[in-house]
Amino acid sequence: MPGFRVHITGSTIIGAGYGTAAWALGDMPPITCVLAGGLCSVAGMLPDLDSGPGIPLKESVAFAAAVVPMMMIHRFHQMQLPLEAMILAGAAIYLVIRFGLSWLLKNYSHHRGMFHSLPAAAIAGQTTFLAFAAEEPLRRYFVASAVVLGFLTHLVLDEIWSVKLGMFGPKFKKSFGTALKFYGPVVWPNLVTYVLALILGALAAGDAALTEGRAAMRQRMEQASRNIQQIPYQWQYRR
Ligand SMILES: [Zn+2]
Repeated sequence: MPGFRVHITGSTIIGAGYGTAAWALGDMPPITCVLAGGLCSVAGMLPDLDSGPGIPLKESVAFAAAVVPMMMIHRFHQMQLPLEAMILAGAAIYLVIRFGLSWLLKNYSHHRGMFHSLPAAAIAGQTTFLAFAAEEPLRRYFVASAVVLGFLTHLVLDEIWSVKLGMFGPKFKKSFGTALKFYGPVVWPNLVTYVLALILGALAAGDAALTEGRAAMRQRMEQASRNIQQIPYQWQYRR
């Protein structure tokens, strides 16, 4: 399997391309492009969280624990939490990811299990979408897709590395087909993954509808305020 360095290089190149393309062709704000490119790069490490205790696991979990609460700042604002509650909520999320997630990964995941799968990529994207509650829907889709892209880059690299070119054409290693998959050989991890994907999917869909509704409302209000400004001055106040 490709090492940590191959994965991070691959997803960084793809992330840089993704961010640059969105900035140059899609009129995305540069700062959003930088965030998306960075997340794509980091997401290239996510599937290997199942590779057992080691530096990648420790570092990626610590990184996620720090970044997820920061991504949720806007969501806390929307919930109108006071500053103290925001700090406490951020700290609680940090602890849950840093210790809870590491414990789960150490005890219940095995390498090339359902963490290396297409539904897991969807879960990563849905989680990002729910955490990153930007006001413009397009920005949310763009950032969540960056994580999915980084995750998929990892899975594709794993598959490429499991094919070796021999004298008589390509040879497939035993690991071929264990990364880009829809389900694994064991029943319960499949169940857990799909149930989680469905729940997060429903939550994300509901949240997407809310964001779209708010965006449409804001547009209508901006339009209305522009219309008011266009009315000649003497008609605005009647005496
Ligand atoms: Zn892998």
